[in-house]
Amino acid sequence: MASTGASGTTTVRYGTMKDNVLSLKVVLPNGELMTTARRARKTSAGYDLTRLIVGAEGTLGVITELTLKLHGIPEAMSAAVCRFPSVDEACRAAITAIQSGIPIARVELLDEMQVRVSNAYSKLNLPEQPMLFLEFHGSETGVAEQATRFGEIATEFGSGGFEWTRAPEDRTRLWQARHDMFWAITSYRAGAKVVVTDVCVPISRLAECVNAAKQEIERAGLIAPIVGHVGDGNFHASLMVMMDDLDEIARAKAFIERLAELAIALDGTCTGEHGIGEGKKHFLVPEFGEAAVGVMRTLKRSFDPDDIMNPGKVI
Ligand SMILES: Cc1cc2nc3c(=O)[nH]c(=O)nc-3n(C[C@H](O)[C@H](O)[C@H](O)COP(=O)(O)OP(=O)(O)OC[C@H]3O[C@@H](n4cnc5c(N)ncnc54)[C@H](O)[C@@H]3O)c2cc1C
Repeated sequence: MASTGASGTTTVRYGTMKDNVLSLKVVLPNGELMTTARRARKTSAGYDLTRLIVGAEGTLGVITELTLKLHGIPEAMSAAVCRFPSVDEACRAAITAIQSGIPIARVELLDEMQVRVSNAYSKLNLPEQPMLFLEFHGSETGVAEQATRFGEIATEFGSGGFEWTRAPEDRTRLWQARHDMFWAITSYRAGAKVVVTDVCVPISRLAECVNAAKQEIERAGLIAPIVGHVGDGNFHASLMVMMDDLDEIARAKAFIERLAELAIALDGTCTGEHGIGEGKKHFLVPEFGEAAVGVMRTLKRSFDPDDIMNPGKVI
């Protein structure tokens, strides 16, 4: 997780791995052991090597120890589901809630296709409409107030129903279904391989990007449910591809390219959490420009002159 700069459903409130790793011990390619920071809560000393290593995808050294930030377990939690007439309205409700300062702990978008897939796999009974899954953390009165305020915003964006619960078993069931989505997608189209891609854009451009992605999926004749960490502006399209259909593979590849280009054009990034790996290397220059990528290459060469750490990845 540290190496890919991972994040998850609670990132909107608690941050990504980049925000939660305080310090690392790293074995460098020359065999030396490097410690990136002390335990002080803040520092203005030297370069920030912690954040350089987090997300480096193992290209600069081997992480052997991590010091993590801890967060208190909230006194109360409540979960909610909320349906919308379109993904556009669902995104705009989430954005408005965040911009109005509601400290949402999780807000996950499912498009109507993903709702259908999850209903089938997780034995849910949700209406096949775009949905937001939400969670609020705080005191007993705090979570009630957050849920009420969110409900008012959702109504403004045409939400037909807002149901919330504090019962732990209902919350668990809901989030289990969210975390089982990959398995739900895997079992939906017999014989298909699931290829997941992700992008991230400024949250003010999210509705536009998700809408464009949906239109592209339809135009290309692909089957690809969309799930979004909408509070972060990050979403995944999971393409169910028949690997014996060369034309479908070509259309899936073209879609992944177009989605990354679109995200960059909207001042976003070609990957919010999956990393560059080998497949998205050619987006680094369009995303950062030659100067920044040149600095990345220089850093890689100075850490690893013999190119022994994950050669061929990222840079
Ligand atoms: C269906 C699906 C859903 C996903 N959902 C999410 C999501 O919600 N959020 C998210 O953030 N990501 C998501 N991902 C991507 C995810 O971040 C990566 O797949 C995951 O972090 C890889 O973990 P792993 O343990 O399999 O690592 P590996 O694939 O083994 O390693 C990941 C990278 O870290 C490097 N590495 C491993 N160990 C070390 C070490 N000790 N020191 C330095 N480098 C090391 C590896 O060389 C590799 O480059 C998803 C991926 C899939 C396929």
